[in-house]
Amino acid sequence: MASSFTLAMYPWVYKAKYTDAGSWDEMYDEKPHRSPQEEAALPVEERRTLLNARNSFPELPLVNYTTQYGMGCFEGLKAFPQADGSLKVFRPQENGIRMARSMEGLTMPAYPADLFTRACVEVTKRNLKLGYRANYDPAWEKNDFVDGHAVYIRPFSYSEPGIGLNLCAKPWVIIVETEVGSYFDPEASAKAITTDKIRAFPGGTGWIKCDANYVVPTLTKKAVEKRGYMEAIFLDATERRYVEEGSSCNIFFLLSNGTLVTPSLEDTVLPGINRKSVIEIAQWKGIPVEERRITIDEVMDDAVECFVTGTAAGVAHIESVEHQSATRVFRDGKVGEMTHTLRSILKGIQYGTVEDRFGWMVSV
Ligand SMILES: *Cc1c(COP(=O)(O)O)cnc(C)c1O
Repeated sequence: MASSFTLAMYPWVYKAKYTDAGSWDEMYDEKPHRSPQEEAALPVEERRTLLNARNSFPELPLVNYTTQYGMGCFEGLKAFPQADGSLKVFRPQENGIRMARSMEGLTMPAYPADLFTRACVEVTKRNLKLGYRANYDPAWEKNDFVDGHAVYIRPFSYSEPGIGLNLCAKPWVIIVETEVGSYFDPEASAKAITTDKIRAFPGGTGWIKCDANYVVPTLTKKAVEKRGYMEAIFLDATERRYVEEGSSCNIFFLLSNGTLVTPSLEDTVLPGINRKSVIEIAQWKGIPVEERRITIDEVMDDAVECFVTGTAAGVAHIESVEHQSATRVFRDGKVGEMTHTLRSILKGIQYGTVEDRFGWMVSV
C-alpha cells in the first residue's frame, strides 16, 4: 500500500522542554531551507542533504528512554487548505487533550492542551509564511477530496537522556510538519482480514497514543499487505471474538437494519478524533449510532458496509472482511452510500465546502 507520507519536513519546528520549575520552555526553530520552488529544483543529493539537516536535532540526546524503551507518545493532525488560500486545523484541542492524557499514561508531566493548540497553529503559520503549505485544488471536489493534500502536523514527546530502565520525567514536546497526500491508494485493494495478533490487552496501553502500541500493528499490517490486503482487523485479546480496531484506525460497520456500530471505548481502543467526529456527524444526520462491543460473527452475518477512520485514512471504505475461511463482501466492493455520505460531510467540513456547524476548524 503506497502511503504518500514523505519526510520532506517543513523548515519551522517547535520545541518545548519541561523545566525543573514545572513549566514549559518554548521555542521555534527555523531549520535550513531555501524557497519551496528552489528546493524542488535541487539535484537529488543536495535536496536529500538539506532535508536531512532539517531532520537533525543535535541538541536532543540520542540515548534516552524513548529511543531505548519506547517511552514516548505522539499525535497526528492536519491543517487543510481552503479555497480562499488559507489553512485550517481540524480539532487541534482534541489532539492536545489526548496528548496530555497519553503523557500522563506514561507518567510524564502532561503538556497542556492550550499550549499544544497554540503551538500547532503557530508553527503552521510560520511555515505558511515561508511558502510551505498545501495548496487547494478544486479538482479534489469531484472525488470528495479523497486525493486531497494537507499539512500533516506531528507532535511527539521525547525523553531526557538515560540508559538504565526508567520513566521519562522531563520530556521535550517537538512539533514537525510535512505535506501529505492521500494515505490509501484509491486504485489498490481495500480488503481487510482479521488477525490473531494482539494490538492491545486489558490493563495495557491501548487507550493512549504511544509509540509502543505501533509495533505489533505495523508488523501485522505489513504482513497482510504482502498478501494483498489493505488492513488487518484486531480482535479482543481475551476472547478473540470482539472487533476492536484496524492497525492504526478505528472501525465502523453499517448493519442491515441501518444502525451504524463502532466498538465502544474500552481501555483497548484508541479514542480517535475522526471516530468521534463521524459519530457526531451521524447523530446530526439522524443515523442511529451505537458504541458497543460487536463480535466478528455479527459482522460476518449482518454488516452491509464497513469503513475505517483516522487522521491519515480519513474515512476509508473497506470492500470486504475475511475471517477464518469466510469472506463478507460489502456493496459488491464499492463505496457504500453511508460511507460516502459520512466521508463527504467530514471532508467537506475540513476543506471548507460544507459549513463548519460544529466549530471544528481553527484558522491559521
Ligand atoms: C491515531 C489512532 C487512531 C485514529 O485517531 P484519529 O484521532 O482519528 O486520527 C485510531 N487507532 C489508533 C490505534 C491510533 O493510534
